[in-house]
Amino acid sequence: MEDLFLKIIAREIPADIIYEDEYVIAFNDISPQAPVHFLVVPKKKIRTLNDIADEDQALVGRMIQTAGKLGKKMGFAEDGYRTVFNCNEYGGQTVFHIHLHVLAGKPLGWPPYQETLKQPVEQ
Ligand code: 5GP
Repeated sequence: MEDLFLKIIAREIPADIIYEDEYVIAFNDISPQAPVHFLVVPKKKIRTLNDIADEDQALVGRMIQTAGKLGKKMGFAEDGYRTVFNCNEYGGQTVFHIHLHVLAGKPLGWPPYQETLKQPVEQ
């Protein structure tokens, strides 16, 4: 199955990339749900949160740390922000390569969900 985010990493699909290192990439979400909405994505393909192996612990920690570092750099860290990992159908995951949503730029409501489920992205 094609992996949309691997294609973005390989520059086969354009994206508004805001950060990249050896292990992770961050780019703006194509359908932003807040004034700031980007995704932190590991370069290693991991399908869902259920597939994280022991050897991936540092990588997942790096994803979360990257959200905070970018928050400081972009100026929203002190106001606050939300990070979200969606997992599988009930979690609303539509792209099956793990990614950390980072949402910021306004007060965010709680609870964070709607009753309707999203449809998976065809890949
Ligand atoms: P999920 O629904 O799996 O939690 O999150 C997938 C996210 O990827 C969605 O917020 C969606 O807007 C975003 N997305 C889907 N296709 C693209 C794309 O081609 N480019 C970018 N930048 N984001 C995408």
